[in-house]
Amino acid sequence: MTTGSGISIRNLSKSFGDTAVLTDISLEIAPGERVVVIGPSGTGKSTLLRCLNFLDRPDAGTLQLGDLSVDAKTASRAEILALRRRTSFVFQNYALFANKTARQNITQALIAVKGLSKADANRRADDILRETGLTARAEAYPAALSGGQQQRVGIGRAMALDADLMLFDEPTSALDPEWVGEVLDLMRRVAEKRQTMLIVTHEMQFAREIADRIVFMSEGRIIEQGPPAQLLENPQDPRTKAFLRRVS
Ligand code: ADP
Ligand code: MG
Repeated sequence: MTTGSGISIRNLSKSFGDTAVLTDISLEIAPGERVVVIGPSGTGKSTLLRCLNFLDRPDAGTLQLGDLSVDAKTASRAEILALRRRTSFVFQNYALFANKTARQNITQALIAVKGLSKADANRRADDILRETGLTARAEAYPAALSGGQQQRVGIGRAMALDADLMLFDEPTSALDPEWVGEVLDLMRRVAEKRQTMLIVTHEMQFAREIADRIVFMSEGRIIEQGPPAQLLENPQDPRTKAFLRRVS
């Protein structure tokens, strides 16, 4: 069983001013597939994720998510909203509402994005709080939570949306080392549901464990990709080899 849809990314390009940040990215992700993106910083990994829900608008290319097809050049407001409803995003810096409790950060998304009633949103939030181990912290504000707890709220909020595709942008990079393990454990549990996931991370051991495929990017292009064992142990491109030497 899988959770979510596949996505086809075709010929995606994005520039900021004169700087090409993504060049002709094509990537197929199957339903339930867990894909990890690695690569040097400044290479366009965040921009790629942000283009997939039009937080950054791509200049060209098409996205197909389930039966929804969106062309960057002609995308309507309605198509962009539909795309956003079908994706969820976990940010490096959690991006929680500081003036809302853990529970309210989850229910707000359910009410605003999924149109749930307050009662239904609270019921769903109870399940999510339990699943993320946050029941005892439900009424706490982000400032009173540890970094690990804050990011578990961020992941819980994304889980609650039942998105076709979950996007994670370096979800453990802002954490003190002591909190990294619990956040990776929660992501493992999400991955076990065969939820379609696209994850940018520098946690190589985690990537090796949970990824069906690892994609290496450099300077706005996909350089090579393959199953973890192949990409990590037998990289073909000199840029991949150099990067892996630096991070391992
Ligand atoms: P990565 O996530 O791989 O570190 P990013 O996608 O954040 O890379 O950035 C890729 C490049 O795009 C960098 O050179 C960055 O400075 C540039 N960039 C990202 N966002 C913007 C923006 N909103 N405006 C201008 N340049 C940007
Ligand atoms: Mg980034």
